[in-house]
Amino acid sequence: MEEVDVIVIGAGPSGCVAAAHLARQGRRVMILEKQVFPRFVIGESLLPRSMEHWEETGLLPALTEQGYAPKLGARFIRGEHEGIDLQFDDNFTTGWTRTWQAPRAHFDKVAADATAAQGVDIRYGISAEDVDLSREDRVRVTARDGSGALEVEGRFLIDSSGYGGTLVKLLGLRDDRSPNPRMAVYTHVRERDRDAWPEPMQITFEVMAVDLWFWVIPFSDGTTSLGFVGDPRHFDPFTPERPRTEAWRAMVDRSVRFRERFVDQTPLWDPHVLHDYTHYNEKLYGRNYVLTGNCAGFLDPVFSSGVMLATESGLLAAKLTERVLQGEAVDWERAYSDHIRWGAAVFRSYIDGWYNGDLQTIFFSPRVEPKVKQQIISVLAGYVWDRKNPFVARHDRILRQLAELLNGTSGARDQAAVLNAG
Ligand SMILES: Cc1cc2nc3c(=O)[nH]c(=O)nc-3n(C[C@H](O)[C@H](O)[C@H](O)COP(=O)(O)OP(=O)(O)OC[C@H]3O[C@@H](n4cnc5c(N)ncnc54)[C@H](O)[C@@H]3O)c2cc1C
Repeated sequence: MEEVDVIVIGAGPSGCVAAAHLARQGRRVMILEKQVFPRFVIGESLLPRSMEHWEETGLLPALTEQGYAPKLGARFIRGEHEGIDLQFDDNFTTGWTRTWQAPRAHFDKVAADATAAQGVDIRYGISAEDVDLSREDRVRVTARDGSGALEVEGRFLIDSSGYGGTLVKLLGLRDDRSPNPRMAVYTHVRERDRDAWPEPMQITFEVMAVDLWFWVIPFSDGTTSLGFVGDPRHFDPFTPERPRTEAWRAMVDRSVRFRERFVDQTPLWDPHVLHDYTHYNEKLYGRNYVLTGNCAGFLDPVFSSGVMLATESGLLAAKLTERVLQGEAVDWERAYSDHIRWGAAVFRSYIDGWYNGDLQTIFFSPRVEPKVKQQIISVLAGYVWDRKNPFVARHDRILRQLAELLNGTSGARDQAAVLNAG
């Protein structure tokens, strides 16, 4: 039996940010991590807002030293058309205007090592398999590796186990799925002659249909991440009989902009195929525990919000846990759930607006005014809690209003009318 103040499950971005914050408050923190790092996980395009979280938890210097490819914005293209030029420094909200595109196996190992350097005890290769939450002021976790069981007790449990969803499974928590399940297929390639292409390091999203898109995320180590996301009907090359790499090539062959660059590149590993990844948890906390990051919910990769919501929730959960440890009564519903749900709801409006075509109308319209563009960029940089921004405050209707104006189907005469509408 080992004793700590806080037990964290999972050493991904969410768990590391949470643990590092608590260690900086002088707390004894243990992370139980099922895998041995470096380990693969998808989610390589980050948002500027998450830089605040790395900075506040002291993880930024180690990450900065790695020379990851800078991400200064994002490019959306459709056929031969260039979409709106999204540059984070053209941002409505004050904050970071750059971030990175980075292979997560490497990135997460650096973040975890920097977390350990702050005094967090990370145990790798050990899986949290049981929890006892029956006592008023203690939590007990039973974890197992190949050689036996470890019992850990603490005063609070932070579940940051991502796709593992440890507490969801152990406590039978309600986890809702999306009514429109989507599919993703992705791999990495090591490009030959990458520099022969124009803007070889530009992160790009190619729209192949309203509900199918292709990501191209080049890394500074010479590899590039490629992935298709969309409605399952577009993934017809992937049949059980057909080799995955062959089906993959058939998908790349459909790309207007990147066919030539990638169709002959050999995937570094058999493409991963993921079905129905969207889920949201009904309840994000309970007595002596909280869910953060992906195990609290995951929406869709289209605006790269996953890691930012993981670090935002990890850091906030850690701050509230510290208050609990100090004997304060914390209203988790208001202080935690409402905050995280708001950010997720804003992104959900943009994701819905993407797949119903409204946002694509906006991105590919030459008529979007500079101020409107800045406010949209601010959301896509992750500043989804800045309610001075009408594209945050009225996220649930403003995209439709603007798309109708740009399509000429609305009564509004100009974009100022849309911005000022109630
Ligand atoms: C197709 C796709 C593309 C994506 N692209 C992006 C993107 O471009 N940008 C972005 O920001 N996000 C993206 N995401 C989302 C991103 O993958 C996640 O949001 C992010 O990794 C969440 O971080 P986390 O710390 O919550 O979980 P994770 O990074 O998954 O870490 C959780 C850790 O918990 C460990 N664990 C699990 N169960 C246990 C257990 N029982 N005991 C001990 N340890 C355990 C796991 O081994 C893992 O290391 C994408 C997701 C998908 C599906």
